[in-house]
Amino acid sequence: MIDRPRQRNCEAVIDLAAIRANFELACRLAPDSRALAVIKADAYGHGAVRVAETLRDMAPMFAVGFIDEAVELWEAGIREPVLLLEGAGDIDELEYVAQRGGAVVVHRSVQLTALENARVETPVAVWLKIDTGMHRLGLPPAEVGSALARLRDSDNVAEGIVLCTHLANSDIVGDVATFRQIEFFDACCEGADLPQSIANSGGIMAYPESHRHWNRPGYMLYGGSPFQHDLPQSRALRPAMTLRSEIIGLREIAAGEPVGYGSRWTADRPSRIATASIGYADGYPRHAPDGTSILVNGEAAKLAGTVSMDLITIDVTDLGDVALGDEVTLWGRRLPVDEVARSAGTIGYELLTSVSARVPRRYVS
Ligand SMILES: *Cc1c(COP(=O)(O)O)cnc(C)c1O
Repeated sequence: MIDRPRQRNCEAVIDLAAIRANFELACRLAPDSRALAVIKADAYGHGAVRVAETLRDMAPMFAVGFIDEAVELWEAGIREPVLLLEGAGDIDELEYVAQRGGAVVVHRSVQLTALENARVETPVAVWLKIDTGMHRLGLPPAEVGSALARLRDSDNVAEGIVLCTHLANSDIVGDVATFRQIEFFDACCEGADLPQSIANSGGIMAYPESHRHWNRPGYMLYGGSPFQHDLPQSRALRPAMTLRSEIIGLREIAAGEPVGYGSRWTADRPSRIATASIGYADGYPRHAPDGTSILVNGEAAKLAGTVSMDLITIDVTDLGDVALGDEVTLWGRRLPVDEVARSAGTIGYELLTSVSARVPRRYVS
């Protein structure tokens, strides 16, 4: 028998200590609030079960998008309460969630009816979502009063309904529409003596007036900055994921020679081109233009040529010795994912959640 050969040397290294430190930061920034940890989309690509396990002694609650993501946590033995941000789809789902102690967002009136008609043994924790201007999910403000009355009347609903909303522009500091959303939310909640929740990462970091009983940090837990622009308060965040691979090809080309699909990049001088084993099928953005920053042995280099499915090409002409097998870092502690994202015309959220299943995750703490 021949031994199984080594794996491709490409991986996402996940620093669990960084995630814990970032959660602590979210709590420190809002000392009068509690924070649930948002671990939807496989904890933004970091592995929902591992992240839940590392935060379970710090976070009183987790949030995911929908039932499938909650089931993964329950099947892995996570017993802390899990909030479904999109709520339950129908009565069966609701009864299933109730049995496991899950909490649900109610954002449309059919979910209210389902709650009233469900057969549950223990009352369900409910977060009533109000549309304060994002116009994506949530009850119109005019329906909040009657919805609350119905929820309070139902034996299926636990005490302490949380009133919540979501900010559309918290990635911009000092945004007028955000202040308007917060004021509008306060007006909707007036008179209802209930816990509230507004802030995502941007709210936690830049809008203290959005801090309420519960905050909902997501992206910041993974060390990315939620803001469009570089801000001092983002520097305290610790990037949790390092995406790395290795050089598997190296060549010298003459001035005037093209590189890669579509011959997008052409050498304007004799150049040294390194080829790394990572591509858009791994989640590296295909829209990254020539010049996008990449670290080779920790030194700054630039993408040269269109990103392929499995490979990228890098101009390493100005670097010192570069050899086959050398380390390539696509993003991580010394190269913020947000910088790569800006270069590729997207946000770090998309890059982290796009790292594909064929990239093994390796956990360090
Ligand atoms: C995803 C999400 C969050 C977390 O947002 P971040 O910007 O990642 O902190 C909070 N609340 C809701 C409703 C969400 O969908």
